[in-house]
Parts: sequence; structure tokens; C-alpha cells
Amino acid sequence: MAAGQKEQMTMNCRNFRDMIPAFEADELNDEQLSAFLSHYKECATCREDLSIQLLVDRGLDHLATGQSFNLKKEVEQTVTESTKRLKSRRKLERTAYTLEMITVGIALVAGAALLILWGRM
Ligand SMILES: [Zn+2]
Repeated sequence: MAAGQKEQMTMNCRNFRDMIPAFEADELNDEQLSAFLSHYKECATCREDLSIQLLVDRGLDHLATGQSFNLKKEVEQTVTESTKRLKSRRKLERTAYTLEMITVGIALVAGAALLILWGRM
């Protein structure tokens, strides 16, 4: 049981390849995306796999529209954009958390003020 769980947490090359379509569709959650990107950085084989996949999926579109296609640039851009998205999503989560804390704080202060007022009546 424990071994199976561990396999889910750490990304291997097989997981990576399985996740490429979801990555392209931007359907990975933060945790998956972060694991995907860190494996991408570590593994030359998977970097190549992702390039090939992007070439197949996007190169053909470019060919069809007659646009020039720079695979290396395309891959770098896709990964950079995903990294940025991941970072900004995490920042958003933190902001939401901060706002929630402020709201809770205001509610507490308002509650305390009400209690004091009520006590004076
Ligand atoms: Zn790999």
C-alpha cells in the first residue's frame, strides 16, 4: 500500500508522458503541474518527449496556416507560461487566504464591539 502511494507522489517518465496531453490542455492541478515542471527540468528524455509531442500537435497547425515554427522557442514559451501561471495561481491562493483572515479579523472586532455596546445598554 505504502509503495503505491509513493509512486503517485513522485513523478516518473511514464507519468510525465501520460500527463503531456493534460499539460497542453492546461488541465493539470497545481500539484500535478508543479511535479510535471520539476520533472521537465530534471529529465532530458522527457524534455525531448514534450518537444516531440508539441511538434506533432502544433507543428502541423503551423504548417497548415503557413506560419513559421520554432520548436525550441515554442517549448520554452509553453513551459515558461505554465510556470508563470502556476506561480500566479499560488499567489492568488495566498491573497485569498489573507483576505479571509482579514474578514475573520473584522468579524471578530465587530463582534467584540457589539458585545461591548450591548453590555452598556
Ligand atoms: Zn523523465
